[in-house]
Amino acid sequence: MRILGIETSCDETAAAIVDGRRVVSQRIASQMQVHARFGGVVPEVASRRHVETVTRVVAGALADAGAAWGDLDGIAVTCGPGLLGALLVGVSAAKGLALVTGLPLVGVHHIAGHVAAAFIDTAITPPCLALVVSGGHTELLRVDPPFCLTKLGGTKDDAAGEAYDKVARMLGLPYPGGPEVDRLAQSGDPAAYAFPRALMEDEGFDFSYSGLKSAVHNEIAKQRQRGEEVNPADVCASFQQAVVDVLVEKTARAVIRTGLRTVVVAGGVAANQGLRRALTARAAADGFAVHFPPLALCTDNAAMIAVAGGLLLELGVRHPLSLNAEANLSLAAWQQACGQRSG
Ligand code: ATP
Ligand code: FE
Ligand code: MG
Repeated sequence: MRILGIETSCDETAAAIVDGRRVVSQRIASQMQVHARFGGVVPEVASRRHVETVTRVVAGALADAGAAWGDLDGIAVTCGPGLLGALLVGVSAAKGLALVTGLPLVGVHHIAGHVAAAFIDTAITPPCLALVVSGGHTELLRVDPPFCLTKLGGTKDDAAGEAYDKVARMLGLPYPGGPEVDRLAQSGDPAAYAFPRALMEDEGFDFSYSGLKSAVHNEIAKQRQRGEEVNPADVCASFQQAVVDVLVEKTARAVIRTGLRTVVVAGGVAANQGLRRALTARAAADGFAVHFPPLALCTDNAAMIAVAGGLLLELGVRHPLSLNAEANLSLAAWQQACGQRSG
């Protein structure tokens, strides 16, 4: 199935054509530079940029694929969660295109899209576990056939990526902070500071990162008060170790609890070198398989939305032209809208 995917949930305007699990073409117009001077994404600015860019990006993806509308089997678009104004641009564009082309339309949950990135160019099929670590989410999910996602646990406060971005800001590092913290952590001492590992001993699969964020803030403030020079590499390495320790431990426990021996990692923080190393080592030690998508498919893109949309269209899922965007769309509500029970 050849699917056009459109993603505008945050600060990337993206369109892609996929054929099953293969990416035929993809265009991503990042607004990173626009938002960098504000130190974070400004929702209204993001919406306006999407409006300016979305048709050009879609036309580009189609041209790169050498495809005409008649070559496609469906249109998939992110319908939530995300910034409402940003989502509305993609949803409206997709609906307009579905109306004139007559192609079937399917709305995709952004996190289901991140999970589907793991299927691109691989033979991985559900059942499996998914660790989603992004700017707005930190969740452990089980993925059952055909494509049913059930949340095992998630963050009670900040997402992992959000914590990375906030720590980067405390250290005066450029936005977005995650990659910068990751880079600095390589040369720091992960044992320099004993930052908290929240809920590490807890039996459940929830996460909490606001305490860790405060601990880093307090440590930096304490050192500055004493007139000491803060070593950013040590702070980054110790912070990253605390984040990674909890993610790895909970994931390994979910493998034991569910008996599912394949783990896919998704979302922007899946690009993190420390997490990749630690989880790969733990998987080898415990005897489970772990898959990280290539870096470009970890962060927001439209190929993942198109692949997820293709899976649903194959199952006969179609959404009406009254499809709406929802900023806080839950996985369970979305699965219901797809006519699937959450596992
Ligand atoms: P969501 O998917 O939850 O709606 P989002 O789409 O904004 O949020 P992504 O684009 O998937 O999130 O990921 C962006 C996040 O990933 C940012 O917080 C960024 O700092 C973080 N990130 C990217 N690369 C790295 C890295 N190498 N190490 C740690 N964090 C990283
Ligand atoms: Fe995302
Ligand atoms: Mg992003």
